Amino acid sequence: MRIEILLGPPGAGKGTMAAYLSRCAGLSVFVTGDVLRQAISSGSELGQRVKVDVEQGRLVDDETILNLVKKFLTEHSEGVIFDGFPRTLRQAEDLRAILDPADELRVIHLDTSAETVVARLSARRMCPQCGRIYNLRFKPPLTDELCDECNTRLIQRKDDTEVVIKERYRIYLKETAPLVGYFADVLMKVDGNAPADVVFRELKEELCPG
Ligand code: AMP
Repeated sequence: MRIEILLGPPGAGKGTMAAYLSRCAGLSVFVTGDVLRQAISSGSELGQRVKVDVEQGRLVDDETILNLVKKFLTEHSEGVIFDGFPRTLRQAEDLRAILDPADELRVIHLDTSAETVVARLSARRMCPQCGRIYNLRFKPPLTDELCDECNTRLIQRKDDTEVVIKERYRIYLKETAPLVGYFADVLMKVDGNAPADVVFRELKEELCPG
């Protein structure tokens, strides 16, 4: 099994890179944040349980996340690109414990400054219909704040406001940044402040050669 992990603060470009790499590497992407947001909009038991944490930028408990990940892995034995997992030492240790020595594990650290994160996230908009992501400064929609694909009015994620962005970044530094050291043996570091096409070119050479 091949496991590629995208590690970096919110706004580092994990989602954009995961989508690009999924195509060239032929792997499925598991986006923990999307799964939780979908559960919240559907009003399921899981959604009701995680709603407050997600909307206030706090981490959901490890048990819940690990159950979702284990289920996904049993259904995707060829491998996966993780966007948003692991985010704590406990999640990282549990992932390593379920991997086989023959599995291929790589952690891509999108090293991104606090300034870049705030600039990107406060201008980020999302289509509630098709999920397409825009940035009013760097990648605006063609017309007004409407989705280019389905013409739906774009929304700002509840956790993309300045107060919650700062809280998410604080939690990233405390809980997730230590994973850079934990994964030192399988780490690839990339400058996450660079434009998306530059980052993708660098990753593509490593992950999708030929
Ligand atoms: P994201 O879209 O990756 O920024 O995730 C949005 C929110 O979902 C986070 O702020 C957390 O509340 C929750 N979340 C996503 N992934 C995880 C994870 N691996 N562990 C705990 N909470 C998570």
